[in-house]
Parts: sequence; structure tokens; C-alpha cells
Amino acid sequence: MTQSEALFNEAVKYIPGGVNSPVRAFGSIGSTPRFITKADKAYMWDEDGNRYIDYIGSWGPMILGHNHPAVLEAVLDACRLGLSFGAATRPEVTMAKLICDIVPSIDMVRMVNSGTEAVMSAIRTARGYTGRDKIVKFTGCYHGHSDGLLVKAGSGVMTAGVPDSSGVPASVTKDTLTAEYNNVDSVRALFEQCGEEIAAIIVEPVGANMGVVPPKEGFLQSLRDICDSYGSVLIFDEVITGFRLSLSGAQGYYGITPDLTTFGKIIGAGMPVGAYGGRRDIMEQVAPVGNVYQAGTLSGNPVAMAAGITQLTLLKDHPEYYTELNEKSDRFFGQIKEFLHQKRLPWQVNHVGSIGSIFFTQSPVTDYASAKTSDVSAYAAYCNKMLAHGIYIAPAQFEAMFLSLAHTEEDIDATLIAMEECL
Ligand code: PLP
Repeated sequence: MTQSEALFNEAVKYIPGGVNSPVRAFGSIGSTPRFITKADKAYMWDEDGNRYIDYIGSWGPMILGHNHPAVLEAVLDACRLGLSFGAATRPEVTMAKLICDIVPSIDMVRMVNSGTEAVMSAIRTARGYTGRDKIVKFTGCYHGHSDGLLVKAGSGVMTAGVPDSSGVPASVTKDTLTAEYNNVDSVRALFEQCGEEIAAIIVEPVGANMGVVPPKEGFLQSLRDICDSYGSVLIFDEVITGFRLSLSGAQGYYGITPDLTTFGKIIGAGMPVGAYGGRRDIMEQVAPVGNVYQAGTLSGNPVAMAAGITQLTLLKDHPEYYTELNEKSDRFFGQIKEFLHQKRLPWQVNHVGSIGSIFFTQSPVTDYASAKTSDVSAYAAYCNKMLAHGIYIAPAQFEAMFLSLAHTEEDIDATLIAMEECL
């Protein structure tokens, strides 16, 4: 028995499913989790001393790679000054200014502790601003685990085949309407029925929780136009895409301006952080200026701010990082496509910038229904083989692969060789 297996046997006695977040349980690939001891650059090591080239990067934030010296130093310096004060601090102002400078649609921003909190609070703010209750989300888009958003969500909920969670009262989800990703008609139909009651549309500008599903040409602009016609708030959930696809996230990449944006782990560079921000007139609804209540003891925590400020400043000061990351990713995903084509394997590769997915299906994947045609047992076999080859990819079909600046050409070549064998 490996050390990881032994630890998992212990873990299941004390933690539900042995893990603190479902996708880590490796259930959908019929395996057991690798317990990780440390990470550096593009690598992670497990309890058995195996080294992996890491393609989840803590599910996104490790754009610079693990253990970046400047981030680490900033965190250690901040720790020496005290871990938490529950009072206002300079780094919070620095972080807020930085986000507002980097993302043109954001005039004001509020820090929270996770993506879930950011989305939950942005929706409350949109409801407070419009005085309306209904929201529109898309099937297969995941926006965290708050009650009202666990409706036809993606990510772990999708792999488990449980689109809704038990414990969520029907009264809480009655105002959550769902449309189909990349299908503007399905959105228009909802607005034609009750557009005057819809507070907001929330969307992942690139679907990343049903595997990676790029928006079709014109889709995001149509959402912008519909929100404008009905006075609804357009919320981009950039927990995955923010500061990753470009410095100003998917909104910069596609040139569409949302009213509110939610961020998560990326702004903490690995520390637990989230944020929501946007137009001043909307954000001024938030307490203590306005009547939308939202609070958090650890929000804007100085250690988390130190990590995030360092990563965001490096990204801001080095526009060439995005060129490098996106070119590297284009080569990586391009070579996978080329290999599948040469071998006449009919599978699909979707990618936008440094996030991407392979789907084991013959049909192009453009939404939840087409993503679900992927053969998850083929993914499970492939994923387990990749792990055995020292490549750590998402232990579930409906998650993304994340590249980082720390992946070297040699890492990528080694990964491609392993992939060719495993595919
Ligand atoms: N929104 C999106 C698009 C996400 O991918 C996630 C999680 O991955 C969340 C929200 C929730 O973030 P967290 O897990 O930090 O609560």
C-alpha cells in the first residue's frame, strides 16, 4: 500500500470522503488521491516521493508557477508583521487600486475569501441595485457552492451526476433561471417571459467547469446587449479566467465590458481570496455605503494581500508573460490536436489561452449537452495512465488543464510524449 493510500484510509474516517473538496477524492477516475507534500515551479511531489508535472496549478492561481520567490518572500514578510488584525490595512488599499487600474470595468472592489463568496455577494449586490430577484445562469457553469447557484452547475457536481444538491430549499432556487451556454435564443426566451424581473445574468466568459468550452463568436456581446435592453446587470465570473487569459481577464481578451466581475483564488496567488467589483453606482450599494450587507472577518487578510499584490504586480509589469504563456499553450494544445488528427482519433481539444480540455467524444463540445457526450471512463483510464507517467491532470473530465509560466519547453515535450502514449 502506498503512503497516499494509507493516508486516504485514515482520512475517510475523519473527513467526509477523505477530502475537503469533492473533486480531490479521485472518485470519478476510480482511483485514490495522491497526497501532496510540496510543490515548486511546475512540479508537485506526493507522500511516496513521486514527482508530477502539475497541470492544475491549485486550480488556476499558480500562473507564475509554485513557490515563486517574490511571492514567497512577500508572504513571509507579511507573516512577520502579524497574521490578521481585523482592521483596515494599507495592503488592502494597494490591492484595490491595483485591481481597479488593471481591469477597466472595475471602479470599486470588495475583497472576500473565496470565489463562492465573491459570486454570492455580487448577486446580492445586483439584486439590491435592480430591486429584482431573478437571475439567469447557464447549465454547466459553476459559480461556487452557495445555495442559489447549485442549479445545473458544472465541475464536481457534473461529474457526480447530481445537478442539484440536497439540502438546498426549493424556495432558494426558484429565482435561479437556467439558459444554455452559447445559445442566445435560450436567454432571449427567458427575458421575453420575465425580463423586467431579472436582476442579472451570471456567466463564465469561458466555460471552464464542464471542461473548457469557449464562447461562440457574438455570444458574450449578445448577453451584454440583452442586459442593456432590460436594465439587468451582466456579471462575468472570472474566477478561472481573470488575470489568466490576459491581464484584464476574459473581458480584455474578448473586449466585452461586464457591469460586475467576480474573482477568486488567482488574486491570492494560492492564498484563500476572492473579490467582486465593478461599476461605482452598483458597488456603492454595498454596506457600509449602501444597504446590501456583506462582511468578513478575514476579508483582505494581510498575508493573502501580500501574495496577491506580488503576483498581480509582476503580471502587470511584464506584459510579455501573457505572450509567452499563450504561445506556449497554443503549441501544447496544437500538438495534441495534431497528434489526434494523425492517429485518426476523433476526440476533441478545446482551449483558450492557457486553459484547455480533451473530450473523448466525436462531436464538437460547445455546451453542457455536448460536453456530457464525452466518455468519462475513457477519461478515467487516460488520467490514471498520465498519473503513472508523472503527469498530474485534473482527476475529472469536466475540469480544465492549466499551464503556467513555470512549465518549460522540456516539461511540455515530456508531457506530450506521455500523452501520446496514454491517449
Ligand atoms: N466560480 C468559478 C467559475 C469557479 O470555477 C469556482 C471554483 O472553481 C468558483 C466560482 C468557486 O470558487 P471557490 O472554490 O474559491 O469558492
